[in-house]
Amino acid sequence: MRNMDSNLPRFKQQDRRPVGCFPLYPPLELIHSFGLTPVVLWDIKEQVRKLKESDRHLQSFTCSVARRLTEFVLSDQGSPLDGLLMYNACDTLRNMPEIIERGLEESGKALPLFKFHVPMTSPTQIDSTEYLADRIRELVIKIESTFGVKFSSERFLASVRLYNSIRKFSLKMETGVAEGRMSYVDFSRLIRDGYRMPPEKYLSILDDATRQVESNPAKNTSDGRKIIVSGILPPPDALCSIIEDAGLRVAGNDVASQARSYSYLPKETDDPAAYYADFYRNHCPCTTLLYSSDERLKMLNALIEDRNARGLIFIGEKFCEYEYLEMPFLGKMLEQKKIATLQLEIATDDEDNVEAFRTRIEAFSELIR
Ligand code: SF4
Repeated sequence: MRNMDSNLPRFKQQDRRPVGCFPLYPPLELIHSFGLTPVVLWDIKEQVRKLKESDRHLQSFTCSVARRLTEFVLSDQGSPLDGLLMYNACDTLRNMPEIIERGLEESGKALPLFKFHVPMTSPTQIDSTEYLADRIRELVIKIESTFGVKFSSERFLASVRLYNSIRKFSLKMETGVAEGRMSYVDFSRLIRDGYRMPPEKYLSILDDATRQVESNPAKNTSDGRKIIVSGILPPPDALCSIIEDAGLRVAGNDVASQARSYSYLPKETDDPAAYYADFYRNHCPCTTLLYSSDERLKMLNALIEDRNARGLIFIGEKFCEYEYLEMPFLGKMLEQKKIATLQLEIATDDEDNVEAFRTRIEAFSELIR
């Protein structure tokens, strides 16, 4: 399923109303438990090619993630949405609710907006469990009154199990890529498509795909060209192919919409407050979860060692301060460990022009061989 424009109306036909969500770690299980379908508006470059509406509201030096999701919501593409949930992450996204609200008002569109605040304080400094529990309760009340559906702990637990199953399958697929049973470009497409699919359908696709991948023979990389890919967004598909054509094996990833999203399996419970306290506190470290930044180094170190990787390719999202602030520090740490790094920057219009990176990637592959 590649085309989100055709996906969203289909949710409506199935009587599962789509709720757009951003950024990447919204309370999907909770939304789903109300009979709604959360649609994560991330990595939507294939669907959003023009940025006419977003250019009216955002400066050109805003990252492509924010520009594309603004375009999607404010243009006709977003009309099948029945709601929009946003939580706080980076400085860019913090201002988005007001910008989107104003844009919707201007165009005379009415869309219920759910603003959710995730505490970004470090759990070692302050215990924000109660604060988060209050925000979850507020969200439950607002969803109940907007959609006229009562919260059910049984349905919530079922949704929790569904999403954890998806995470488990995603981890298996990642192992398949590391073992050479599946290409990283196919894996990347599969994970991306899942964001815009009803989770029940996605689970069944993942189940089939995992069986197929596990039946494929593993391929050894005798010359040690194993790498980790890191970034807010995965490399564009054409770039994934260039990486693999250069003989590199993606032995692991630290991509926000991939491993950072599915790596941690929260404990299954029918209590949303307890579930999300665990979900956010123990989430895989990400630059967008400010309180987790101290853990990034440790996590990346462990990933590199566990996968026996010799290099890291950082896919920088142009204008994403959060990722760029961290990169020099990570680069230094990796240099000490003799892990080669390659930093590539992708801007809004670069996705179709990645051939320019081929020579650098081939040289990098030779370097780490
Ligand atoms: S974290 Fe970076 S890429 Fe993501 S929305 Fe914020 S600035 Fe953009």
